[in-house]
Amino acid sequence: MKEMICIVCPKGCHIKVDENGVISGYTCKRGLEYAQNELTCPKRNISTTVKLISKKLTRLPVTTNGDVPKEKIFEIMELLNNVVVKAPVNLYDIIVKNVLGTNIDIIATRTIKE
Ligand code: SF4
Repeated sequence: MKEMICIVCPKGCHIKVDENGVISGYTCKRGLEYAQNELTCPKRNISTTVKLISKKLTRLPVTTNGDVPKEKIFEIMELLNNVVVKAPVNLYDIIVKNVLGTNIDIIATRTIKE
C-alpha cells in the first residue's frame, strides 16, 4: 500500500494505492490525475529567485509557467543559479525559455522598472 497527500488543493486528501494499483481516497478528478501522475511522472512547480541587476533590488522572483518533472528540479535550480537579469523586467517576461527542454518557461513574477 502506498499513501500520498494530494497537493492540488488545500483540502489535502489522503490518497492510497493498493498492491493492484487501485487508487482510492481522492474526492475529485484532479486528485485522481495527481495520483496517476505521481505514480508515473511526478511534476512540480518551481518558485525561486534569480540574480538581478537593478538600482534597488538584487533578486528577481521567478516561477515556472507549468509543472516540470520532479527529477529535473535540481538541474533547473543549478541553471537558475547562473542566471543574471538586468532591469527593466516586466511581470511574466520569459527569463529562460523551454528550460532544459521541458517546454516550460521560467517567467518573472514581478515588474522591476529600474
Ligand atoms: S482530491 Fe481533489 S479535493 Fe482532494 S485534495 Fe486533491 S484536488 Fe483537493
